[in-house]
Amino acid sequence: MRANIQGGLKQIIILLILILSLSAWKADIKGPWIITKSKRIILYTRPLNYSQSTSPDSASIQAIINEQELVIDFINERLNTHFDSKVKIFLYNTDEAQEKIGTNGGGFASLNKFKKHIYLTFHLEPYYNSVMNKTDYLGVHEMVHIITLSELGNIKTRFFGEGYSNALDGNYGTENKNGILTRQRIDSTLVRIKKHGKLLKPSDLLYNDSIPEYAYYPQIGCLIRWMLDTYGVDKINKF
Ligand SMILES: [Zn+2]
Repeated sequence: MRANIQGGLKQIIILLILILSLSAWKADIKGPWIITKSKRIILYTRPLNYSQSTSPDSASIQAIINEQELVIDFINERLNTHFDSKVKIFLYNTDEAQEKIGTNGGGFASLNKFKKHIYLTFHLEPYYNSVMNKTDYLGVHEMVHIITLSELGNIKTRFFGEGYSNALDGNYGTENKNGILTRQRIDSTLVRIKKHGKLLKPSDLLYNDSIPEYAYYPQIGCLIRWMLDTYGVDKINKF
């Protein structure tokens, strides 16, 4: 993992095409797993020495559980929701993730609102998240999918589904900033997109399903963020 982090540009490009989306991919959830529970999180991690890649140790497990409990509180507060259910998070080691969940750069949330499953890749070091002003392991994006599906109904359109996730997360992709693995802010990315004259109209974002993630996520995230700030979360939730 550490060698990968130092892989520079190639690594950034790979991380930029993270599959951070609602997905119909069927995850392989076969054990063995270490299962750790908190109030609302049931975290599945691999036992130590399960594979060549490092499995989470007890300190990272605890940090991840604490982080995701706070993430649920954060999302409930931002969306004016009262999500209080159990969420199962399956955390795969880096070297098995591609085979089991179809990516080793991120993951996805289950489309089934009754399942409340998140499948993600474990990375050894947390990312610096400048939106939240702290480091995190898993971030906010996938939990927003779980909570919006559960609390706001059947949000399966990319516009609102990815819009809410990117608006609340505020990041898409990661970069190595002076040796610190950092989440890339979508507002900074939007400035770059605008500078290159690649800014899309809201109607493009609504109707064009073939816009690639790296262009779509920052723009839809900023648009929905603006809508939430301008009109208030309750009005936008009604959509
Ligand atoms: Zn997503």
